[in-house]
Amino acid sequence: MDKIIDCHMHFSAKGIFNKTAENIGLKCTLEEVQNEFKKNNIVLGIGMGVDICEENNLSNPQIIYHGKEKFPPFLAQCLGINALAINKENLKDTLDSFKQKLEENSTVGLKIYTGYQPYLATDKKYRDFYKLAQKYYVPVVFHMGDTANSMGKLKYSQPLIIDEVAVDFPKVKFVIAHCGTPWVADAVEVVAKNKNVYMDLSGLMEGKFKAKKQIKEFKPYLNIFRTWFNYLHDYQKLMYGSDWPLVDMKEYIKVIQSIIPKKAYDDVFYHNALKVFDRLPEYLKKQEKKIYD
Ligand SMILES: [Zn+2]
Repeated sequence: MDKIIDCHMHFSAKGIFNKTAENIGLKCTLEEVQNEFKKNNIVLGIGMGVDICEENNLSNPQIIYHGKEKFPPFLAQCLGINALAINKENLKDTLDSFKQKLEENSTVGLKIYTGYQPYLATDKKYRDFYKLAQKYYVPVVFHMGDTANSMGKLKYSQPLIIDEVAVDFPKVKFVIAHCGTPWVADAVEVVAKNKNVYMDLSGLMEGKFKAKKQIKEFKPYLNIFRTWFNYLHDYQKLMYGSDWPLVDMKEYIKVIQSIIPKKAYDDVFYHNALKVFDRLPEYLKKQEKKIYD
């Protein structure tokens, strides 16, 4: 395994990200991300746009980088959709602002916060965005499974619902984040049945830990993933992601390596992301030049 794409991370120093990062001893700065990437052979990270933890924030689209400098060459982004801020009156303007950002080549996907926001993936609020995703060749990533705070509502983040949007929008690629944990069997079934649905391996654990101890202590839990990935038997459908800064990159990579067969490392840690995020190969080619020139 010589290089990695981290297909699900955050670049946010707010709320829970800040708290967890502090506990691990991480700082959400560009310099730190770049150092960690270098140390771990990560060529690019896909950041999920999120401001939702900010109270009363009604902005759209949600982006990962607010700095004055140019967009960092080692990152790409999924635009976060804040459905709470969308109404009939502003829908057209909202869609226009997404279109504008989708024209930028650093945008490679859309992110929906089901569970944190009380709308099902099938809600009509989201259907225009699926059409947008199809038009701009970007996948839609859903937060799925457990929520990081007790204000979340779990019926919205149960992964079985993704089957319905996958059937209704067969030309759009969908990603179930966090393997829908703890509903791993449901998530895997949706991925197995639909050729346009994939999973990311981010957020399966978080906080400060050493991989070796963690792999031992959480063996029964990690066996669930080994079992259902074996059932799926298609490692082209899984992508590495960390949910950084909620974990230390080096330790998390080791945990994920322990639940994936060695022969699938290159696909899971690198190649699959290039196939799912259709606009990524071209972007990466340009960015690699910038990073290494
Ligand atoms: Zn995340």
